[in-house]
Amino acid sequence: ELYEEANLGTQILSNIRRAHFEEPTAIQRYTIPCIRQHDDIMAYAQTGSGKTAAFLLPIISNLLSYNADELAENQNPPAPLCLIVSPTRELALQTEREARKFAFETPVIPCSTVGDHTVSDPLRQGCHILSATTDCLKDMVEKDRISLKKVKYFVLDEVDRMLDTGFEPDIRKLEDLGLPAKDDRCTSMFSATFPSEVQKLATHFLRDDFVFLT
Ligand code: AMP
Repeated sequence: ELYEEANLGTQILSNIRRAHFEEPTAIQRYTIPCIRQHDDIMAYAQTGSGKTAAFLLPIISNLLSYNADELAENQNPPAPLCLIVSPTRELALQTEREARKFAFETPVIPCSTVGDHTVSDPLRQGCHILSATTDCLKDMVEKDRISLKKVKYFVLDEVDRMLDTGFEPDIRKLEDLGLPAKDDRCTSMFSATFPSEVQKLATHFLRDDFVFLT
């Protein structure tokens, strides 16, 4: 069974069981091995396909290979290792909840910044996975309350909706805000449609040898 075969680690497997996931969905079968081996991906995914776990499970598992001291280090400002950008607050919060479920009883700490939420408290305890909306992220970085310099895993979720909501200029600016260049990170993009704007964004954010999963 793939969840076992993917070598996600015993704690993550036990968290998967606790979530009552019996077998991986199609998208999880495709993305888990790719992200585990640090491929950049563009994946076709609709809501309800299990796409959130499709990127969270391999990313959390990869983060667990960092040594415990590195994860325990308290950065000021917090410097997450994984950044997930969503088009809406609701989706960003839902992704954080899902991340907490799978990171349960591991040293990996998920948190979120959405809208004008007061986030200083959760962030002060450290944050490895940050689930965010772009508007808020820009503000936090400019106020020096978060640093993107350590991001190794970058996820753009529901990219087509992000374009619909006019966030494209904001996501393109993330590299100016300190997000490492594409050769120095692993990037995953998820979308339900592939208009040329989405393809252009893929060319911009993904390494040339990215894997297209449909
Ligand atoms: P998503 O597409 O990420 O929004 O997920 C839709 C719903 O399916 C969420 O409630 C997930 O917790 C659930 N889900 C994801 N993967 C599985 C799985 N392998 N088995 C059962 N439920 C799942």
